[in-house]
Amino acid sequence: ALHRNAMSTPTRSASSQAAPPIKLQNPSLWIEKGGFINGQWTAGGNDGTFEVTNPGNGKVLGTLPEMTVQDTKEAINHAHEALKSWRKTSEYERSAILTKIFQIMSDNKEDLAQIITAENGKPLADARGEVTYGGMFLHEAPSYFSWYAAEAVRSYGDVIPSAVPGVQNTTIKQPIGVCAIITPWNFPNAMVTRKLAAALAAGNTTVLKAPAETPYSVLAIAEICRQAGVPDGVVNVVLTAKHTPAIGKELCESPLIHKVSFTGSTRVGKILMSQASSTLKKLSFELGGNAPFIVFDDADLDKAVAGVLACKFRQSGQTCVCANRILVQEGVYDAFSEKLAEAVRKFKVGEGNQDGVTHGPLIHQAAVDKVKEHVDDAVAKGAKVLVGGKKMDIPGYFFEPTVLGDVQSCKVDNEETFGPLAPLYRFKTEEEAIRIANDTEVGLAGYFFTENIGRLHRVAAALEVGMVGANTGAISQASIPFGGIKESGFGREGSKYGLQDWQNIKLVSIGGL
Ligand code: NAD
Repeated sequence: ALHRNAMSTPTRSASSQAAPPIKLQNPSLWIEKGGFINGQWTAGGNDGTFEVTNPGNGKVLGTLPEMTVQDTKEAINHAHEALKSWRKTSEYERSAILTKIFQIMSDNKEDLAQIITAENGKPLADARGEVTYGGMFLHEAPSYFSWYAAEAVRSYGDVIPSAVPGVQNTTIKQPIGVCAIITPWNFPNAMVTRKLAAALAAGNTTVLKAPAETPYSVLAIAEICRQAGVPDGVVNVVLTAKHTPAIGKELCESPLIHKVSFTGSTRVGKILMSQASSTLKKLSFELGGNAPFIVFDDADLDKAVAGVLACKFRQSGQTCVCANRILVQEGVYDAFSEKLAEAVRKFKVGEGNQDGVTHGPLIHQAAVDKVKEHVDDAVAKGAKVLVGGKKMDIPGYFFEPTVLGDVQSCKVDNEETFGPLAPLYRFKTEEEAIRIANDTEVGLAGYFFTENIGRLHRVAAALEVGMVGANTGAISQASIPFGGIKESGFGREGSKYGLQDWQNIKLVSIGGL
């Protein structure tokens, strides 16, 4: 069995199916008692339990208590109470606590990675990448704490020249208040830290609704916050599988909450936005994408292939910034498709904790079915299967890494696959590529490869997205702004802009001077 913490363990409904053990060096990070309200672990209203499954083998990993709307109200009330003193802490105090969180996360990086792999399925190397290997400010979860620990104390206001004599105009930055945080399962750890670090740095208190697929990472972060000295009520976590819509509604409609920060699908984003309109909350939404990846005739093809491997197949295609449509100029189409197919054939797919595995499972069966639907639809409309193309008949939720050639108009043009499918489209001119790239309602990330400097600037300016990767497939770090335009949402995470999203700017105009 998994190493348990000292707390009581809810009954398991499928103990005969228990997953293979993971061994945590710090078992206190594996929380099974429930959510976290006002510094206490709690099963809340105890409305039954839900199971968490390891998608790499389909076995039950653990069982957690279902919490209710009433529990959510309680969490909000405690966050509201805690705000009174937390908002008055100095930026330096908060910076010190964030630094401590960074240190504890770093000290426990292997355990945090093990938890991610167990509940999300991604290969351990990727989970380690998500947690902390690679330096303080690269794209790993704890780096948001180190970055915002430093930003907190550089959050300056302004003194603005006054048009009226005897008046001094200044601005100060203040916390927004109690904030709701709703995150997805694809980066179980980093999706939380990129919001929570900035929220806390700015002096807000928080209520997190953990994703039902990957709650253990959220609970581990809550425990680390507790160990780092975050006061009771500043970070609260509610857990649910079956009450998700009702708890989401409460978070959007509660008059005590002043901001909702959400990462997930555009579909759910629209529901939350309409619910939040009754109280006109500040919203920050990171939603779905449909990233174009353009390979021009003048590209370095080896670099372009490496770019596709990074931003299409990482996480088996389950990132919002994954390339969804790969547009290849006709002069290099054959050479590029051969090189890509050859690279994809070398992948080793399997359970994330097995040696040598480069690509893990999808999160659940519905995700596998969606990839199949997109592949079948594209093939029915004339696409050729260059690699893969089928579900894998092994335990867990697997689809073969797939490359389709000569893709014609089909579902994947406009729908995010969120799986390991690279559809290759041919194009003739730069104008045509830009037109196709922008022909979508969403605009999160876009990538292109070219060795022509003029084209590089032209295309970067022309793509209708929030983030461009030019000659790179990696675009996320704590120090740079992450977010979309169009139906990919609004608001930015990471960078100085990410802190501003968690602050109110207040004008203080002083007259009679
Ligand atoms: P999802 O929208 O179904 O779920 C995301 C989160 O919202 C989960 O915690 C889920 O429990 C919760 N949720 C679902 N319905 C809700 C409701 N009615 N009220 C409140 N909360 C609700 O998305 P998903 O399928 O889990 O994640 C994949 C999607 O997320 C993709 O579209 C992907 O592009 C997007 N995503 C975007 C970013 C980004 O930064 N833009 C990052 C990661 C994922």
